[in-house]
Amino acid sequence: MVEFYHLPFFYFCLSSKFLGISTFTAILSNPIEYLKGVGPQKGELLRKELKIFTFGDLLQYFPFRYVDRTRIDRIADLSGYEDYVQIRGRIINMAVMGEGRSKRLVATFKDESGSIDLVWFQGWQWMQKSLRENVGYLVYGRISVFNGVTQLAHPEMDLLTEEIATGKQFLEPVYYTTEKLKARGLTAKAIGKLTRNLLEQMSPLEIRENIPPDILQQYRLMPRSMAYFKIHLPTGEEDARQAQRRLKFEELFISQIRICRLKMKRQQHSHGYIFNAVGKSFNEFYNHHLPFSLTGAQKRVLKEIRNDTLHGRQMNRLVQGDVGSGKTMVALLSMLLAKDNGFQACLMAPTEILSQQHYKSIAELMAPMDVNVALLTGSIKGKARRQILENVANGTVDILVGTHALLEKEVVFKNLGLAIVDEQHRFGVAQRARLWEKNDIPPHILVMTATPIPRTLAMTIYGDLDVSVIDELPPGRKPITTVHRTEWQRPQVMNFIKEELSKGRQAYIVYPLIEDSEKLDYENLMKGYEEVKAFFPEPKFYISMVHGRQPAEQRQANMQRFVTGDTQIMVATTVIEVGVNVPNASVMVIESTERFGLSQLHQLRGRVGRGAEQSFCILMTGNKLSQDSKERINVMVQTNDGFIISEKDMELRGPGDIEGTRQSGVLDFKLADIVADKPVLDAARASAEKILDKDPDLILPENQGLKDFLASQRSKSLWSKIS
Ligand code: ADP
Ligand code: MG
Repeated sequence: MVEFYHLPFFYFCLSSKFLGISTFTAILSNPIEYLKGVGPQKGELLRKELKIFTFGDLLQYFPFRYVDRTRIDRIADLSGYEDYVQIRGRIINMAVMGEGRSKRLVATFKDESGSIDLVWFQGWQWMQKSLRENVGYLVYGRISVFNGVTQLAHPEMDLLTEEIATGKQFLEPVYYTTEKLKARGLTAKAIGKLTRNLLEQMSPLEIRENIPPDILQQYRLMPRSMAYFKIHLPTGEEDARQAQRRLKFEELFISQIRICRLKMKRQQHSHGYIFNAVGKSFNEFYNHHLPFSLTGAQKRVLKEIRNDTLHGRQMNRLVQGDVGSGKTMVALLSMLLAKDNGFQACLMAPTEILSQQHYKSIAELMAPMDVNVALLTGSIKGKARRQILENVANGTVDILVGTHALLEKEVVFKNLGLAIVDEQHRFGVAQRARLWEKNDIPPHILVMTATPIPRTLAMTIYGDLDVSVIDELPPGRKPITTVHRTEWQRPQVMNFIKEELSKGRQAYIVYPLIEDSEKLDYENLMKGYEEVKAFFPEPKFYISMVHGRQPAEQRQANMQRFVTGDTQIMVATTVIEVGVNVPNASVMVIESTERFGLSQLHQLRGRVGRGAEQSFCILMTGNKLSQDSKERINVMVQTNDGFIISEKDMELRGPGDIEGTRQSGVLDFKLADIVADKPVLDAARASAEKILDKDPDLILPENQGLKDFLASQRSKSLWSKIS
């Protein structure tokens, strides 16, 4: 392992007025407009456009790449097919050419091998004034071909200083900027300059170490202050890489420390109700009314839940189970456990349709029993609503099913003992936290998700939850056959659907509905509906159409007709994605498949294959497909395993796009990428655990820096409420 670059660091100490510091760490919280070169107007822009409020924010505004200033192209070698090029030479001639809108400044630029034109269409007056002939420049820009002539339009021009010429400072950081910022002179370069101004004013002591020395040593991480310096001003690639590695480690390490502490705190301090009785309701239902026997996985998860609720600590458990693995039954049995111990329970689902469906199936199962089930959604109003609220408050209702309407203040339970959140990824972290506030002692929390979350992600996001996995499907299910078909094959697809319907089955045809093109999607859906109707005419066939623009009652009625088998085809948008259960449906056609993410496709496919019949999923696309779409479709065709699909999804789209992670806000890493940096994540996790094992309250002197850092991060106090 290389020694770190102590020499530049030493210069840094000198150049940063090391000796005259009086402001100490306070400087980093200075408002950005006070930085040399910023001022009120640019300050406002930096706040608005880049969320840079303070000096510290700027320091944490990292370059997204570096340009190697030593890599010089020869003009004679340029073919015109290069992307960006960097050349070194001088301007031998400048002239303004053209008229009106095509008026431009053309500079002939020469190196020892040949010459090329540099062109400015905008701001050329200013360029003409500032450029000089016959002095050395380093020119960086994009090659373009204009009227058959290769040229560089609007290149970056740097006077060839000795530093650049001798290749001393050869990695230039490139910062992301916006059009608005550029218009005010805040180009990538200008941002780099501001950062340099800041670094020059600062002492390394202002950036306090937050990783304990042992760990720095173990993983050979550079000191924090050095890393901040070097990530902005690296002397070479290795330098930049090491700075990034240190800062990535830091991000992950801090997040892991937080998660581990949260979990510890919960285990040590949080009180929870004790469910020690397995009583009348549970036993009666289990022994006499259970419509099937539980799978081994369902039994195991129930045991885990039972165990969690025995010890007087609040349960916080995530149940991951692929679509169709039978999570609802686990939820119901857990709620009966709550009832047998004198508590109420609630089950919260993300959509009206899904909560209605849950309500209906639970109410049916509970019909022969002395258990009072109620439904509360936004569309239940007036007297009915008041009555339900009253029954919830006085304890008449044992099980309350609903949408996030359950979170509202007016919903007051007599004694809520268990709160279950189904299809968790639709709920934000903050919403989940609100469930806690329903009681003095927080209810046990069970979070059920059908989007299997890759293990790395689960560890990072839900590291403070205990995780159960239902990794077994109920017996007798046949794996769904998935195929890819294009527009050309539509007639065959329609015939195939007809065949299936003639066997008494039902089919879904799903269209995308994506917010920013809602209108277009709506039109597509309607067109699709007409086509389907033309091919499957009444009275032989009936079709339900369901989409988000319908009034809830109409949607519900259409849906209901499909559930009862009065209609054979359901044409729908993704409102059916979550949780809908019609075991007789055996065909799922997905239109414009290329517009869906993998996890979503998997969810949709999970609507079929719920009965004993062989089911099919047909992925329709246009004839031309991007590489990325092809890859996604291949994954779908090849596997039914939700875990593999979610891993793949994360690989293809990056963790930030996995459903549910964005709103969780836990993945706001500036540098780290939990897929690419998995080894760093593992090391950070191990280090965090090691430290907290030894020093849970961080009282040892070597952990002081870490403790101070955590305390200084007050703004992230939301963390303390997660789950
Ligand atoms: P999900 O996990 O996707 O929410 P559900 O709870 O909706 O799955 O269950 C899917 C289907 O499987 C339902 O029709 C349910 O009644 C049935 N089911 C659940 N558990 C079993 C089991 N152990 N044996 C047979 N069928 C089951
Ligand atoms: Mg479900």
